[in-house]
Amino acid sequence: MSTAKPRAKTVRCLDIGLKCLFQARGESAAGLLEQMRRHLREAHDGMTVVPTTERLIKRAIKDDRWGRFAP
Ligand SMILES: [Zn+2]
Repeated sequence: MSTAKPRAKTVRCLDIGLKCLFQARGESAAGLLEQMRRHLREAHDGMTVVPTTERLIKRAIKDDRWGRFAP
């Protein structure tokens, strides 16, 4: 196994304005969206991801720098 992993991406509920510490992590925006969709449904009273939410999530996605903070 090489140490050069694909860079993970993360998005948090906090980033889309929810007071919740959930963080989704994955390698693609589609995977993150799917995790968020499921989490919002299960943990936020059946909240659904409408196009506006989807846009918020996509904009909030950040590269996970493995412990290094972006400037
Ligand atoms: Zn949440």
